[in-house]
Amino acid sequence: MDPTGHSPVCEDTGDPSCGPEMSVQEAWKAAGDTFGITFGGTWSAKETADVMMAVNKVGNKFASARDFGESSAEAWKAIFGNSFTFKRVGANDCTSKKGKAAFACTGHNKISVSQFYGADIQNIRLMMHEIGHAFDLAVCSRAENCTWYNQKGGAAYDSLGGKLETCETTTVDGSSCLGRFSDGPISGPDQHWGFAGGWDSWQFGAYEKDQTWEVFADMFVGWVSDTWAPTDRGTNRSTFMNNTMSGYLKSWTP
Ligand SMILES: [Zn+2]
Repeated sequence: MDPTGHSPVCEDTGDPSCGPEMSVQEAWKAAGDTFGITFGGTWSAKETADVMMAVNKVGNKFASARDFGESSAEAWKAIFGNSFTFKRVGANDCTSKKGKAAFACTGHNKISVSQFYGADIQNIRLMMHEIGHAFDLAVCSRAENCTWYNQKGGAAYDSLGGKLETCETTTVDGSSCLGRFSDGPISGPDQHWGFAGGWDSWQFGAYEKDQTWEVFADMFVGWVSDTWAPTDRGTNRSTFMNNTMSGYLKSWTP
């Protein structure tokens, strides 16, 4: 026993839990610092944790797809730069032009959250969906004539152009039949259109079912989680995202 209370193991490993005591929320916010993330507005510890779990999962997936030997935070910052904000806003602040209240909305390096679900896993996937839009915007910001969602080209969702057929039967070719026009049936060959689950579970572009950018953001959730329906359509979505994301991600040099 060391009467000073110092733990040599702690000092060797740099384990952050050996540092001064922090609240759970402070600990998550400190984790955010390593990703360049700022939290605006008022957050609960649970909400902060849900955001950071999503961020870390995305960073890890970026790192493995980029394959440059980066940490999760390094890979995240390679794509989004050194500053990214999550802002807690009022219940109606993300209301769409169609008057539908969205849970969250995304702008350049900024995600605003107006509502959270009850379950952490839904919140984590919702945040991944929004980060999918942010990624789309990051790709767009490097293209010459791209204004996000002006349909002029350059965003990542453009890669889905011409591939959104809904198809009666699916050919396994890694690129076709990636459309949807409603939530898919729970069972059968086209289970959830190849997504791993339905609305508010694995699909969050609920009011924009056939919009290319919403399909892309939902596929981003499936890609980060590497989870799809065990169907031909699910296989196509998986192959498409693995190929497309790898190309985009490697184009940012470390
Ligand atoms: Zn969306």
